Amino acid sequence: MVQMYYDEDANLDLLKDKTIAIIGYGSQGAAQAQNLVDSGLNVVVGLREGGASWNAALSDGMNVLSIEQAAKKADIIHLLLPDEVQSMVYQQDIASNISKGSAISFSHGFNIHYHQIIPPDDVDVFMVAPKGPGYLVRRTYTEGAGVPCLLAVYQDASGKAKELGLAFARGIGGTRAGVIETSFAEETETDLFGEQVDLCGGVTELIKASFEILVEAGYKPEIAYFETLHELKLIVDLIHEGGLSKMWYYVSNTAEYGGLTVGPKIINAESRKAMKEALRRIQSGEFAREFVLEGKANKPVLRALEKKEHEHPVEQIGKELRSRMTWLKQ
Ligand code: NAD
Ligand code: MG
Repeated sequence: MVQMYYDEDANLDLLKDKTIAIIGYGSQGAAQAQNLVDSGLNVVVGLREGGASWNAALSDGMNVLSIEQAAKKADIIHLLLPDEVQSMVYQQDIASNISKGSAISFSHGFNIHYHQIIPPDDVDVFMVAPKGPGYLVRRTYTEGAGVPCLLAVYQDASGKAKELGLAFARGIGGTRAGVIETSFAEETETDLFGEQVDLCGGVTELIKASFEILVEAGYKPEIAYFETLHELKLIVDLIHEGGLSKMWYYVSNTAEYGGLTVGPKIINAESRKAMKEALRRIQSGEFAREFVLEGKANKPVLRALEKKEHEHPVEQIGKELRSRMTWLKQ
């Protein structure tokens, strides 16, 4: 088993006299900044003046500065901007303000791994990546728990980059849940693979395809919605709690037999070939190039696909049905 690091393995004192600049105040930025403050650390938030998050950070009581000022002031510059804008902001406002002996850190390895940001040799570069969305990073922390994190060191100029990363993970509550060490390459490539093939891309296509097939065959869309989308949560909750075995134990014998025999015909050799091709494009940098160029072009493909997804019948019927599920809002 891979080693897990907990509170007792992390020394928060390493950060006591340092200033941490959280750049960006979105999902992760707001959560991590608030947790670090509540851990007693010195935090400044670096934002575009007049940008969307400026008032949110101020009203949370943050010390808000321009990105340049925050970078200048900081011993640790933690980049929590959207991945596709990080390299531009880094070049414009951060690169000339990093001092020797400081650290630059991330919650996802994309920009370092794909060489979009090339930091100077004399700074530490590490990653603390919570394996959950920002609202969970914050909520679990306030409840005395945390979200498990990945830790990676890309460059160890001080000889203390790993200890620093562990301390940072403790500051955001990660060591309460457990921290696993990885590399920038492994975190980036597995993260992209997971979200494309399984978690986001795979699951949504599975929902849409099974919904469409039922509706085309003449079944009511409401019934198809419950079957292909709504019930997914019940299944995933069981898997989350007790693995595949717990789920198979709780569903009927009919579901278990049907699922185990038919599932491999759906995710079959052809699907596996497509999954491997997705991994190949991630490893070769082809996906990264495509996404970086999409960002530079103001995301025309992403916007078109978002619109199409929004207009899908499973979304239309879902909106209608969920508005009647008063219990969902509790
Ligand atoms: P986000 O989109 O929620 O927040 C982005 C922040 O950057 C906001 O404060 C926004 O105002 C600011 N911003 C946007 N465009 C900007 C620009 N052009 N110039 C300056 N500021 C700009 O981002 P996020 O989802 O919190 O992601 C931040 C990092 O965390 C990414 O590296 C992401 O991969 C990583 N991460 C996210 C999650 C998640 O669940 N959202 C989980 C793990 C890791
Ligand atoms: Mg992920």
